[in-house]
Amino acid sequence: MAADSTVKNATALQFIEEMTRNIDAVQQRVLAEILAQNSETEYLKGFDLGGATDREAFKSKIPMTTYEDIQPLIQRIANGDRSPILSARPISEFLTSSGTSAGERKLMPSIKEEWDRRQLLYSLLMPVMDQYVKGVDEGKALYFYFIKAETKTPSGLLARPVLTSYYKSHLFKNRPHDPFNVYTSPNEAILCEDNSQSMYAQMLCGLYDRLQVLRVGAVFASGLSRAIRFLQLNWKQLSHDIRTGSVSPKFTDPPLHECMARIMRPDPELADFITRECEKDTWKGIVTRIWPNVKYLDVIVTGAMAQYIPTLDYYSGGLPKACSMYASSECYFGLNLKPMCDPSEVSYTIMPNMGYFEFLPIGGGDLVDLAAVEVGEEYEIVVTTYSGLCRYLVGDILRVTGFHNSAPQFRFVRRKNVLLSVDSDKTDEAELQAAVEKASEILTKMSVVEYTSYAETKTVPGHYVIYWELMGGGAPQEGVMERCCLAMEEELNAVYRQGRAADGSIGALEIRLVRSGTFEELMDYALSKGASINQYKVPRCVNSAPIVELLDARVVSSHFSPEAPRWSPERRF
Ligand code: AMP
Repeated sequence: MAADSTVKNATALQFIEEMTRNIDAVQQRVLAEILAQNSETEYLKGFDLGGATDREAFKSKIPMTTYEDIQPLIQRIANGDRSPILSARPISEFLTSSGTSAGERKLMPSIKEEWDRRQLLYSLLMPVMDQYVKGVDEGKALYFYFIKAETKTPSGLLARPVLTSYYKSHLFKNRPHDPFNVYTSPNEAILCEDNSQSMYAQMLCGLYDRLQVLRVGAVFASGLSRAIRFLQLNWKQLSHDIRTGSVSPKFTDPPLHECMARIMRPDPELADFITRECEKDTWKGIVTRIWPNVKYLDVIVTGAMAQYIPTLDYYSGGLPKACSMYASSECYFGLNLKPMCDPSEVSYTIMPNMGYFEFLPIGGGDLVDLAAVEVGEEYEIVVTTYSGLCRYLVGDILRVTGFHNSAPQFRFVRRKNVLLSVDSDKTDEAELQAAVEKASEILTKMSVVEYTSYAETKTVPGHYVIYWELMGGGAPQEGVMERCCLAMEEELNAVYRQGRAADGSIGALEIRLVRSGTFEELMDYALSKGASINQYKVPRCVNSAPIVELLDARVVSSHFSPEAPRWSPERRF
């Protein structure tokens, strides 16, 4: 490793040590900075803080908030009110969360300076990794990164997902050379708005550089499994292009076309190799067969993404899966200091300089400071950010697993109220109920007696399966159930519909009709397992294998949505 990298990495590790040694003092400073910076905002003035920057005043005067509480203020900012409403610094853009409110992505205010903080967190990831895996600076990373559509608020502020904002920023596009972060994907491929052109180009580049690739990754596990599936579906075309060195007519995006024209070269030997490997009967271990020098997968497999672990293990021969960080549109939180640990052991250490963190005990009780959380307890994380969120409930439930110095470490337990998720979509019980109700209006002589759901992630992309038991005359007419599938999708939130219509990250919704009496059998099963008959409720989502098997054994027909639901990047403001 070059001497300057050694120094840089040591400095980063030193920074982590300093930050985690005295988290309470850092938190106190962060809160004071935030309150001083935003003392003149309409929001803080509304609570009579009187310029106080101490914890006691903050705790006694500022309430916890949800998105719905602050939505009217967000709306005014979106409409062009430039007065200091939430933040004294100008809001530079809105980050569109994958969490939704009234069916639309939540808009998180962001200020320019926030990028320095996020960049700082990114800069710690590879120094931590270097402690566990040596030599990653001697090769390349094949990361499948994508941007998503962006839109503008009525006042012209951009609204887009946080990673789209990052990839489009100068920080990313003009990043200085760093041997720890050499990607096979050129910026032109990552920045191409058409996901299929982008994927095709990124895969080609990854194949050309296959012997130099030391890690393969995507942000979330769902994305990496989609990339592998893409290879499975497109290897013939990819190896044809590599054999001839021709620039595919698929590349209609001019900068990407130009970039690929520089990269493409005939390599018949490589094309033969890809053909040989991909033609084999089994795709088991395909990742290490094509990229033999890969040391680990860099991909988040915690939370809802844990469902993809068996798939990734199958395709990669069980390579380690590094979950390096925990972040959101609201705030970047922290990192995994033992990135090579087993997914079931992953804990994230919250960096106390990122924002002011408090924790709402799940069992009830007052908000607790970062320094006061207890091992074994579960909390919902609450953030106060430099961008103007105050005591904001993020919706993530975390469990304290231990400490690094004085910094608590957290396991990601689950997202509050989420029933179904296959990618970044999050569907709650009320949304599912509304979708079933809407779709069942299509049925004329029948009605839905009971339903439940299941996130099917063995298909790529994953898709929602909804089990319906019908009551009434005979079987539904031809095509009716398909219309019900589409009607459900039309009713689901914007993140779901974007995943279906634009990103291809979610497959067509499926309704499986089960025979009459199935839900009674489901209840009998639950009772046999100790459920109380008085308290029994039909689970609106099932994920235990015996229950899914019970349902599947009673399926009489299965129906898929025939087309993608409507979605447009434009939104109602
Ligand atoms: P978004 O609001 O779209 O930026 O998504 C942020 C959310 O993604 C977080 O609040 C978490 O629910 C989830 N998330 C982010 N990082 C992780 C992680 N490392 N493990 C599990 N879930 C995560």
